[in-house]
Amino acid sequence: MKNNKKIAIIGGGILGLATGYQLVNKRSGFKVHLFEKEKGFGKHQSGNNSGVLHCGLHYQPGSLKAKLAVNGIREMIRFCEINQINHEICGKVVVASNASEAKYLDNLAERGNRNGLLGVKYLNKEELKVREPNVFATKALLVPEEGIIDYHQVMSTMAKGICDAGSEISYNTEVNHIITAGNQSIINTDNNSYEFDYIINCTGLQSDRTYEKFTKLKSPLKIVPFRGEYMNIKEEYTSLINHLVYPVPDPTYPFLGVHFTRLTNGKREVGPNAVLALKREGYSNRDFNLNDTADTIFYKGFQKFIFKNFRFTMGEFKSSLSKKDFVNKAKKLIPSVEDYMFEKGTAGVRAQAMDKEGELIMDFKIEKNGNQIHVINAPSPGATASLSIASYIIDNYIF
Ligand SMILES: Cc1cc2nc3c(=O)[nH]c(=O)nc-3n(C[C@H](O)[C@H](O)[C@H](O)COP(=O)(O)OP(=O)(O)OC[C@H]3O[C@@H](n4cnc5c(N)ncnc54)[C@H](O)[C@@H]3O)c2cc1C
Repeated sequence: MKNNKKIAIIGGGILGLATGYQLVNKRSGFKVHLFEKEKGFGKHQSGNNSGVLHCGLHYQPGSLKAKLAVNGIREMIRFCEINQINHEICGKVVVASNASEAKYLDNLAERGNRNGLLGVKYLNKEELKVREPNVFATKALLVPEEGIIDYHQVMSTMAKGICDAGSEISYNTEVNHIITAGNQSIINTDNNSYEFDYIINCTGLQSDRTYEKFTKLKSPLKIVPFRGEYMNIKEEYTSLINHLVYPVPDPTYPFLGVHFTRLTNGKREVGPNAVLALKREGYSNRDFNLNDTADTIFYKGFQKFIFKNFRFTMGEFKSSLSKKDFVNKAKKLIPSVEDYMFEKGTAGVRAQAMDKEGELIMDFKIEKNGNQIHVINAPSPGATASLSIASYIIDNYIF
């Protein structure tokens, strides 16, 4: 059935692009206009992540995240195969370094099985030695479905798909105001005025602020930025790992811990840590923005968070300031690594939603308000799951 609805998508990260792509491909007749404030797509989270295809090991069974990650990786792999995008299902080894982590690893294995992952199995000492001779483990779990991908190529293909279908992307266009008139929403840019039936807000690190600007309501959650810094493994040491190698994460946090990652270009990196960032879109530990910092520290929820998580927060700051401290996190997985094997790498900033009790929100959070749909929390594995999140938005909120 032909549909003539006009839809504005705010934000040209992987979620905005996936939503636009799914709309123009799955539903004939939709006219999409995507607005992005930067000069190109993917300049924030989506262009600065680990490039991992997460298959759903870590997520609470029954949660939206678990469902969309498991479907999401399969849909993303299909998308890569059809569009010849670089990716590889290289598998992941999750490593427990002591007895208490071994217990958490059992919980993870159970979660993986409940989430429907295939082929998850413990590796005995000999099997681990063959797969990852440099890794030290009390216990090791193989997750064969996990992989790596070039998300830049993914986004480029989605952007082309949107434009080829006759829809539009406007870069350098920040949307800060939406006028609602009956069932229609109006967006005024410097040059034009546009009318839309639906607004889909995918603004990542700004999603709480844009929620308030677009709805004139208080955002239910606050975005607290956590920078993730990487170190590159020098070329002569790339043979240190063959798979993705992860620690058992602390279940209190949505962060997976400093890990070794293979990249689709053959390089290897280690990271990311999770440092409280003093600028939402700041990628160096010297970046500071007064408004962003005040927004975080005067938030009641953050004050509760810091009270409960002071040691964690300081530990992550330390790993940002001291290479030795950062490398020590990597040494837990591969004891033979030394400072000289690494050089400074890139960084990304996570948009992590926090509630007023200081809890970090683990699950994806999407909310509808009138004809506006807001993606309020889409942390990792948001890139892996982007096509599934997009379908979820379309099926549940547009139809
Ligand atoms: C360090 C790090 C590592 C990660 N690793 C992985 C991984 O390996 N695998 C995985 O699946 N996920 C990973 N993630 C998570 C994943 O990257 C995110 O879930 C995903 O990128 C979120 O996409 P997004 O489109 O919501 O946000 P973003 O990519 O941040 O895009 C939001 C866009 O909105 C634009 N915008 C903001 N405000 C406005 C406005 N007012 N008007 C117009 N445009 C606006 C911004 O400029 C930006 O381009 C990682 C994230 C980080 C930070």
